[in-house]
Amino acid sequence: MAQHFLLSPAAKTLSLVKVMRMSDEEAREAFRNIRWADTGGDPVCPECGCLDHYNLKTRQVYKCKGCAKQYSITSGTIFHSRKLAVRDILAAIAVFINGAKGYSALQLSRDLSVDYKTAFVLLHKVREAIGLARDHGALSGDVEVDGAYFGGYVKPANERKDRKDRRRSYNQSGKRQVVIVARQRGGSTVTHVGAHEAEGVQLIARTVARGTTVHADEASHWDRMAAHFPIKRINHKEAYSKDGACTNQAESFFSRLRRAEIGTHHHIAGKYLAAYAAEMAWREDARREANGTQFTMAVAAATVAPKSLAWSGYWQRRT
Ligand SMILES: [Zn+2]
Repeated sequence: MAQHFLLSPAAKTLSLVKVMRMSDEEAREAFRNIRWADTGGDPVCPECGCLDHYNLKTRQVYKCKGCAKQYSITSGTIFHSRKLAVRDILAAIAVFINGAKGYSALQLSRDLSVDYKTAFVLLHKVREAIGLARDHGALSGDVEVDGAYFGGYVKPANERKDRKDRRRSYNQSGKRQVVIVARQRGGSTVTHVGAHEAEGVQLIARTVARGTTVHADEASHWDRMAAHFPIKRINHKEAYSKDGACTNQAESFFSRLRRAEIGTHHHIAGKYLAAYAAEMAWREDARREANGTQFTMAVAAATVAPKSLAWSGYWQRRT
């Protein structure tokens, strides 16, 4: 049997040990080399783009000779006004990358011995940066679409006489959401979170190139795509794959997201579901990249992502 990719040497080009053995200066150099790859790691002023600067070593900042503004290696990135050392941020990204089923803030807070709130915001910033860096263009070729419901679990009462019919809408929590995935075979994965699976019809219209063959299951709302795309249907009551039609790639995505929900996060609050779905889509698409490559992709994404509106000062706004 072929060796699983994650067991091969090619998959392992980065380790947490390597990051944690870096000195502060080495970590900063690694970050600089990724952030300012175009200039070989030389600082570029985030305000005016000037290359000339004074190096104020004691405060670990640069002063621009063009506009006189001071900036650090994380200024103007998603880690603007960070609390953690650059090495700790790199270590957090390294362990995040290695979590095939996702990685939780609680675990990061224990692994790096940082405050839970810091860990929570840091990981969401990484997710946001990765999401912003993704540019999949229009999906084409063969695209699979499917939806799956998450959240809104209603615990059954202990005694049978007290139990309610949880299939009835008035006995549900109203928090159930559907994740819809559109997945190009051998290409990118796009996700959407909404109230009904039928919203996937718009997702397909928005993200898929004309002429693309779309694979879907037997649910009737997918009929509406037939006016714009060649459609292949698979009835899961009959088979998972038949006459070239299947949605198995979409199912693998849901399997990874479900494992992240149950095995890593235990509970995903509704408003973060879209972020976790997008993270898992990225993990699926990058799964054949060595972890060192994934690490560089994530750090590079963080260096080009602007200061986060959603996550900067998140806890200050909530207290
Ligand atoms: Zn400047």
